Amino acid sequence: MGYDQNLGKTKIYSCPICQADTPHLIKGQKGETFALLCGNCGTGSLVQSDELSLYQLHWEEELRQILGSLEQGLDDERHPD
Ligand SMILES: [Zn+2]
Repeated sequence: MGYDQNLGKTKIYSCPICQADTPHLIKGQKGETFALLCGNCGTGSLVQSDELSLYQLHWEEELRQILGSLEQGLDDERHPD
């Protein structure tokens, strides 16, 4: 079992160059360090895996809140999910 399953996938990360919260392509991994490529400006970044996980969690939480508030605004009727 290796880390190759992460290669080619994208993770949301905040690019230090273009300041965008944008999907970054995982180009490589060494131990706990990911080599990411910004999908916006193409800049490479080295990010620790735990930092990336935290960012992903934060992002998903924020996304859930945004989607939740949208649903509340748009739907008067409740849809069981
Ligand atoms: Zn960038």
